[in-house]
Amino acid sequence: MQIASLFQQKRAVLSLEVFPPKKTSPIDTIYKTLDNLKDIQPDFISVTYGAGGNAGDTSTADIASNILHKYGILPLAHLTCVNYTRQEIGQILDSLREKDIKNVLALRGDINPDNPPRREFSYASELVDYIKGKGGFYISAACYPEGHVDAENVDEDIRNLKLKVDAGAQHLISQLFFDNTHFYKFMEKVRGAGIMVPVQAGIMPVINKSQIERMVTLCGASLPAKFTKMMQRFEHSPEAIREAGIAYAVDQIVDLVSQGVDGIHLYTMNNPYVARKINESIKGIIHA
Ligand code: FAD
Repeated sequence: MQIASLFQQKRAVLSLEVFPPKKTSPIDTIYKTLDNLKDIQPDFISVTYGAGGNAGDTSTADIASNILHKYGILPLAHLTCVNYTRQEIGQILDSLREKDIKNVLALRGDINPDNPPRREFSYASELVDYIKGKGGFYISAACYPEGHVDAENVDEDIRNLKLKVDAGAQHLISQLFFDNTHFYKFMEKVRGAGIMVPVQAGIMPVINKSQIERMVTLCGASLPAKFTKMMQRFEHSPEAIREAGIAYAVDQIVDLVSQGVDGIHLYTMNNPYVARKINESIKGIIHA
């Protein structure tokens, strides 16, 4: 099934994101996570792709295949291109096809100064174009409510986003944000630019202070005063910060759904407890 078609059937689509375990952890840890996430009955689960450059790493495809065949949930396989040749991307797509995985999130990937890009793909729009040319896949892509860190500003980033959608991206998932007003302003500009595909809002519940500091450094999301006060108040109590983080995410989601968002993409950080607690609070409004 094509992810973009889910949006015609639902008030708001709910998806979860998981990542393959680190090489030092057994692969089974992800299946324990998925065992605990499956009851949420999300519309789909996405699996991230390692930023490195090892085309032989099949963990994303294997986990996505299990999501489909063992759990009966629609998977979305992330795929980055900047460190791969066209031939390698072709091989990865062949292996996804063999596993019946048809939905792909086409990404450029972050550029690592220690690992220079292969230069066969410079932008995600080129990957979208390449996947479309292969045929048989439904293509999703990323977007950035506060602008991507490499872009001069949000307007320039949206002009580039339009290229990605025109190339064939049928659905977008946003970078995490903590202030919904950024998302609403972004959506006004996105629709104004003629980008009419469904856009899911990416929500990351805070689990601890160092996680948020790392994420904010990586993606440049701004932190509203309400959020930083919460972090300062509870930073020395892991349980309190986790519960406050859950409440903050629920508050964001209720507001987004009330304002008619197409869907919510929950960055679960492989933490079923947090994802389940959030689902308990929002399922009545998402699924009703
Ligand atoms: P692009 O769409 O190519 O954009 C990158 C930059 O180039 C932007 O500044 C854009 O404005 C600019 N640009 C685009 N096209 C042009 C053009 N034609 N001319 C000039 N400038 C242009 N990373 C991973 O490694 N693995 C993952 O699994 C992963 N999953 C993600 C999931 C989501 C929902 C999101 C939001 C991000 C994810 N990332 C992941 C991070 C992502 O790889 C980085 O943010 C990366 O730096 C940009 O990827 P992109 O696909 O958005 O790039």
